[in-house]
Amino acid sequence: MQHKVVIVGSGPAGYTAAIYLGRAGLDPVMVTGALTPGGQLVNTTEVENFPGFPKGIMGPELMDNMRAQAKRFGTEFIADDVVAIKTVEPPTDGQDSARPNYRLNLSDGDVLQTEAVIIATGSNFRKLCVPGEQELSGHGVSYCATCDGFFFRDKPIVVVGGGDSAFEEALFLTRFGSSVTLIHRRDEFRASQIMVDRAKENPKLRLLTNTVVTEVHGTETAPAAAPAAPAMKLGGLSLTPKPQVNVSSVSLKNTVTGEESELETAAVFVAIGHTPATDFAADVVNRDADGYITVDGASTRTSAAGIFAAGDCVDRVYRQAISAAGMGCRAALDAQAYLND
Ligand code: NAP
Repeated sequence: MQHKVVIVGSGPAGYTAAIYLGRAGLDPVMVTGALTPGGQLVNTTEVENFPGFPKGIMGPELMDNMRAQAKRFGTEFIADDVVAIKTVEPPTDGQDSARPNYRLNLSDGDVLQTEAVIIATGSNFRKLCVPGEQELSGHGVSYCATCDGFFFRDKPIVVVGGGDSAFEEALFLTRFGSSVTLIHRRDEFRASQIMVDRAKENPKLRLLTNTVVTEVHGTETAPAAAPAAPAMKLGGLSLTPKPQVNVSSVSLKNTVTGEESELETAAVFVAIGHTPATDFAADVVNRDADGYITVDGASTRTSAAGIFAAGDCVDRVYRQAISAAGMGCRAALDAQAYLND
């Protein structure tokens, strides 16, 4: 289908762009992501620094509000992922023939064609890349405290990272765990002072600095219900729940002394930042060495005419919900000026 403008991504940047474009009568289409529409704020707890909410607001509620506001002005949502963007000739129906069109391939095989694109895909969780992390992902290794914290009630928990995300997750996890150990590779934190102060005041939270996790270990554990649950009978077959391998400890190394140690834990929450989710656009827009899309000065114009980018897929410095929303506004205005030119 031929569209005026397609927004890829559904975080604060994407929704803000959709609100502006909808109000401008440009009938925006938003490809929200197949699995986790709403971006990173859907995985967060209370947001205290988004203006307009003096008592704070829960991240998922803030994103629901943004979506409802974008819908109110006519945004069409497609719950899918864009896997590739290609430049194509414009249709011969009076569109400026010098102006390229873009074809967006979606993961379910559908194709969208559009005059302008706003890329607002944010970023993905960065991985530790140590042995055991991938194998035990979903079995004690997690990247989302709000999603998985509940499973580790009264158990020791480890959080890795020294930024606001790690502190926010660690503080949240003290509601569940018997103890929470935040492990950071340096002795200075990137997190804001207020978060560090709150962590230091929390008796359940321990800060372990100058330390890295070198391996995540697991042991076979019976599923939670197994000891009490009788074997199930299915078609004459007796089915006993299989034991699973779950996280049991981490190997640690002190980055100053080189000393190695092991720490027992039931969970490892990795909160060490994000990498921009821009691979699908690599053929059409310029990116820097780390994958951030490069834009022209203070604008949101990318190296491809008609493609604009906003939010964490561009911004390696500020990376806040409010700065992403502001950039989404600028992308919408840039796209509008381009389409009206
Ligand atoms: P971040 O600020 O980039 O912090 C990432 C942390 O992970 C850093 O401490 C870094 O260590 C550490 N790290 C990176 N790679 C590592 C590795 N391979 N092994 C071990 N540690 C590693 O990321 P973030 O915490 O996700 O925050 C991103 C942005 O969102 C920030 O601007 C933050 O302020 C914002 N944010 C705000 C809030 C809030 O205001 N409520 C909540 C969450 C996030 P080094 O310090 O040594 O580099």
